[in-house]
Amino acid sequence: MADTYDMIVIGAGPGGYVAAIRGAQLGLKVACVEREHLGGICLNWGCIPTKAMLRSAEVFHLMHRAKEFGLKADGIGYDLDAVAQRSRKVAKQLSGGIGHLFKKNKVTSIMGEAKLAGKGTVEVTTDKGTQTLRAKDIVIATGARARDLPGLEADGERVWSYKHALVPPHEPKKLLVIGSGAIGIEFASFYNTLGAETTVVEVMDRILPVEDEEISSFARKQFEKQGMTIKAKAIVKKLDRRKDKVVATIESDGKAETHEFDTVISAVGIVGNVEGLGLEEAGVKIDRSHVVVDEYCRTGVEGLWAIGDIAGAPWLAHKASHEGVLVAEMIAGRNDVHPVKPGAIAGCTYCHPQVASVGLTEAKAKEAGHKIKVGHFPFIGNGKAIALGEPEGMVKTIFDEETGELLGAHMVGAEVTELIQGYVIGRQLETTEQDLQQTVFPHPTLSEMMHESVLDADGRAIHF
Ligand SMILES: Cc1cc2nc3c(=O)[nH]c(=O)nc-3n(C[C@H](O)[C@H](O)[C@H](O)COP(=O)(O)OP(=O)(O)OC[C@H]3O[C@@H](n4cnc5c(N)ncnc54)[C@H](O)[C@@H]3O)c2cc1C
Repeated sequence: MADTYDMIVIGAGPGGYVAAIRGAQLGLKVACVEREHLGGICLNWGCIPTKAMLRSAEVFHLMHRAKEFGLKADGIGYDLDAVAQRSRKVAKQLSGGIGHLFKKNKVTSIMGEAKLAGKGTVEVTTDKGTQTLRAKDIVIATGARARDLPGLEADGERVWSYKHALVPPHEPKKLLVIGSGAIGIEFASFYNTLGAETTVVEVMDRILPVEDEEISSFARKQFEKQGMTIKAKAIVKKLDRRKDKVVATIESDGKAETHEFDTVISAVGIVGNVEGLGLEEAGVKIDRSHVVVDEYCRTGVEGLWAIGDIAGAPWLAHKASHEGVLVAEMIAGRNDVHPVKPGAIAGCTYCHPQVASVGLTEAKAKEAGHKIKVGHFPFIGNGKAIALGEPEGMVKTIFDEETGELLGAHMVGAEVTELIQGYVIGRQLETTEQDLQQTVFPHPTLSEMMHESVLDADGRAIHF
């Protein structure tokens, strides 16, 4: 006999587990099926373990700067295995926390591989056999995995995916990172800080290509100062894998060159986990590797919803979780549910220096036909940044000249991944330039630069 629920969630990543908990909070009987690990990629192989590794790199970097702060640190070194072990421990702690949250909220957690098996039916293959579950509403939250390009496939030996890079089988000394999106740049920054000779190859004309051009170029200069080699508008044509090295053929400006590396990290994007779920048979529309949904995460097939990475860009944990809440509330019949506003979702990259943004870039704002006003403020003009020893960075704000609407905000520098939320709230509340100008920012904080950038758009910045 099938176990019957109000809602079945397939996948326990930040999309799925949040949907399950919110559904249970709203009184639904919920089951969440997960084939590998509670917390999904985010807690186990993505957001959290990378930030744990990057924190080690940051502390290492600061230890080298000890003298500048009047401190002594001799014999500075690191143990890469210990760095990775700490990161695994943090991931495990958080993944375990999801189990507790499920218990607390009375979500039935089932470890197994799920697939759709007819209307309102999910078949789960577990260690003990096959289990059939039924529910009126089923949420697909199966996430995504690393994209493998032909010839550039990760093998876990000399060519790594993000998973291998988090539990490195050896220490890279000469590293090639293919792709300069958030994942590629974070690993490049981590290993470069630890001393690996690092080269980043990006097919687009600049690194972090979704970011505002000024921010990308500022970040590039900082990375180059730290010794990274950046090859933009370049393409890795071939990886010749030898026992202890990889010979990469890199083409740029029509010329092909070969370079030797001991390690390659392939970070060329992700593909949705759409296979083996019975989605096509259920009538769900798939575009490349993503399920097509409307702004309420409906697939068009009654009772079937899709959230998070499987439902397309932006591939971010907070977007997945927000959609998780949204679908649970829709399923529970709440009538106050608002669609996600893509323009109010921040993107953060935790490299050194950090990069964060929300809303339109300057180019996109112009493309959309806005007459714009732009403000800038450099970290060098901020007391807290100087006190922290972090004078390199920039805050840029873009407003609609006619309405004063905050169209976009872009930052590079220390702690900007924490600061950006101030502007996210601004975007969510449709804040204007005037509201932000009249807001009092605490002193001394890095956030004062957010104020100054707004003031600068009106030619009235005080400290620069
Ligand atoms: C290295 C790296 C760093 C990242 N850093 C950040 C960051 O700093 N900030 C950020 O916002 N995002 C970051 N991301 C992206 C973030 O991890 C994803 O956007 C997020 O995990 C998506 O959540 P999800 O719930 O959609 O899917 P996932 O987290 O991928 O979870 C899906 C779950 O579904 C399970 N599953 C799949 N198929 C089945 C099945 N048939 N049956 C049962 N279970 C199944 C999987 O095992 C998985 O646990 C990073 C990603 C990577 C790879």
